[in-house]
Amino acid sequence: MEIQLLCLYSNHNNSQILGLCLNEDCCSQRAYCKECIETLHFNHLNDLCSLDSFGKKIQEASLTLDSLSKRLEQVKSYIESITKCQKQLFSFLQSDFYNLSHQRFNPIIDQLIAIKKIDKELIPMLGNICKDFQPMMAKFLEIQDYQNKQEFCRVQSQIVEPLNIVFHNTMDSIYVFDQGKKAMKSTLGYQFVICHPVIPKQKRVCFTFEILSVGLRTALGVCHKDINIKIQQLKEGHGSYIMVNSGNCFESSKPQGTKTTFEFEKGSKILVEVNTIQKKIIWKNLDNLSEYSVAIDTSKDLYPCLRLGCKSQQESSSVGIIDNYNYFQAS
Ligand SMILES: [Zn+2]
Ligand SMILES: [Zn+2]
Repeated sequence: MEIQLLCLYSNHNNSQILGLCLNEDCCSQRAYCKECIETLHFNHLNDLCSLDSFGKKIQEASLTLDSLSKRLEQVKSYIESITKCQKQLFSFLQSDFYNLSHQRFNPIIDQLIAIKKIDKELIPMLGNICKDFQPMMAKFLEIQDYQNKQEFCRVQSQIVEPLNIVFHNTMDSIYVFDQGKKAMKSTLGYQFVICHPVIPKQKRVCFTFEILSVGLRTALGVCHKDINIKIQQLKEGHGSYIMVNSGNCFESSKPQGTKTTFEFEKGSKILVEVNTIQKKIIWKNLDNLSEYSVAIDTSKDLYPCLRLGCKSQQESSSVGIIDNYNYFQAS
């Protein structure tokens, strides 16, 4: 059967839907086109499923539901049998035993001993089953909640919130001015400049930088707070995701930078979008709307950052923050 669906994303030119994303945490539209793969699902390609094989997944899911029903029926029938036995056991027991005959004592004592066995063996076993049921109940609620969580995440991932960022005036050899909105390095060597606040989790935020002067090199992006800010050569695990004006992109997990066609210069305005839902960072040059994006590891807190490299005292590296840039106008 052929399904004729077109991509919902307005900038994907009504492309044909090729398949569905089955990634557990993905908050993009599940039905993807060719462009969706590269921009939205690129960090979980193994979870993409063609329309043809999706039917099989549905079949598998219905088998799972069948086996859940069978298991629940089984548990129910066990409990029913135990309840039945319990009713039989309690049929003889009575407290007024002074007037009983010899023979009447026999079954009562047998029963008493049987109940002792229940106390010693059956109740602890049932207790263990109840204990096992508690995490099972919690798991079940969590699974039920998953669908709400995903729906919330899908809504969140459509909203880009501007993040109001600022430089703190406490950094060695960095001159911060204009009420924390501009930073300059006019001494030789590279240095990271960390901005505040922290990038929030499970959100899409953006901030915009304006390049005041490039110096030797100017880079921008996000980094960990405990990064070695004066490191001169970025090695694998350096803890940042930054785009250099020359188009070199550094990712924490890679030993070297990647040469891209994304370049910028003095006067360029660069919007940085950090998406901690889809775990990616996008640099957007607002002058020519070129874009570049890489996957980010969000297990550790990230902060907006610059890496400034001064050429000489006359050619410093300097960057300003533009607040309230209209993102939607830009996109
Ligand atoms: Zn698409
Ligand atoms: Zn996906």
